[in-house]
Amino acid sequence: MNEVTDFLVIGAGLAGLAFAREMQAAGASVQVLDKGRGVGGRAATRRFGAARIDHGAQFFTARDAAFQAVVDGGLRDGWICEWYRSIPEWREGVIHSRPDGHPRYACPEGISALPKFLAQGLTITTETEVQSISWDDIGYVATAKNGQHFAGTTLILNVPPVQLRTLAELLLTPEDSERIATATLEPCWALLALLETDLAVDWPALELTDHPVFSWIARDHTKRGLGAPPTLVAHTAPGWTAAHLEDSTEAVAAALSSELAALLGPLAISQTQAHRWRYAKPVTALGQPFFWDTARQLGACGDWCAGGRIEGAFLSGHLLAGAC
Ligand SMILES: Cc1cc2nc3c(=O)[nH]c(=O)nc-3n(C[C@H](O)[C@H](O)[C@H](O)COP(=O)(O)OP(=O)(O)OC[C@H]3O[C@@H](n4cnc5c(N)ncnc54)[C@H](O)[C@@H]3O)c2cc1C
Repeated sequence: MNEVTDFLVIGAGLAGLAFAREMQAAGASVQVLDKGRGVGGRAATRRFGAARIDHGAQFFTARDAAFQAVVDGGLRDGWICEWYRSIPEWREGVIHSRPDGHPRYACPEGISALPKFLAQGLTITTETEVQSISWDDIGYVATAKNGQHFAGTTLILNVPPVQLRTLAELLLTPEDSERIATATLEPCWALLALLETDLAVDWPALELTDHPVFSWIARDHTKRGLGAPPTLVAHTAPGWTAAHLEDSTEAVAAALSSELAALLGPLAISQTQAHRWRYAKPVTALGQPFFWDTARQLGACGDWCAGGRIEGAFLSGHLLAGAC
């Protein structure tokens, strides 16, 4: 058993990291666990040959002062850049440009630079999937798939609501469990493609409305700077995802590559991969920025609480830290 920390955080997504960073800065001891190889959850970047592709979150916006402060620091130090101020819309076969709006930020090295920044100086154990959590007189004890145990006085869960309820079924009141069950996330497939030659178009990305297959297509290398190998990332629309959720990654990569060529014209693709996100984007939210039970010293944060998206996830963890 590891030493008992003040806070045991399950999930090193942006919400869990924002929470852990603030509590540690306030002097608390914090242990973060994540089942992934790295931190960041859906703010993910994959190396693909010489390229890097963001296959989850694509960009972020900043409206709240707390998140804007992180973004301003990243802009100053060069690991965040302003990508574009508007993304054109594809509708009924026509590309419609849109007027400039607020900045869409990206990270030249990949969006995983954002969670990596938040994770600096934290005690994080990755490749550690928590399978069960119990409560006894020393506090909460999380048992990982590899048999390790971690204990903390206060438990914070930064995992999707379905997994939260499985892990914390016996720790939540029946009312809280029912309330958390009302928050749902929908799945999505991502296609990653390395191209031999770039497309002869001027858009960085397209948001597709009412397309039967795709909801989003980005020339991902436009975030990376000059000389980056040309790449595409495409996300599927809810109907297509539902019909193909259990297909193999190979079958999905092949099907989406030909759908992409049907939409954009012949493509010189040298390599593809598909990635399934089972819990991609919130459909119905909890309706409050975080969950906190003072009597049980039990909290939860994530984009599914109120905000959706990167900034919403960050703010969920940030506001929960203020409440503890
Ligand atoms: C395809 C896609 C496109 C998106 N596009 C955008 C976009 O353009 N802009 C935007 O702002 N947002 C976008 N989002 C949403 C954004 O990625 C999320 O809102 C945000 O990253 C959620 O952070 P989080 O901390 O709430 O959760 P997550 O990132 O899901 O973090 C949860 C963490 O918990 C870990 N975990 C789960 N179960 C366990 C367990 N049992 N034990 C240990 N660890 C566990 C996971 O490994 C994960 O790291 C997109 C998401 C997807 C999937």
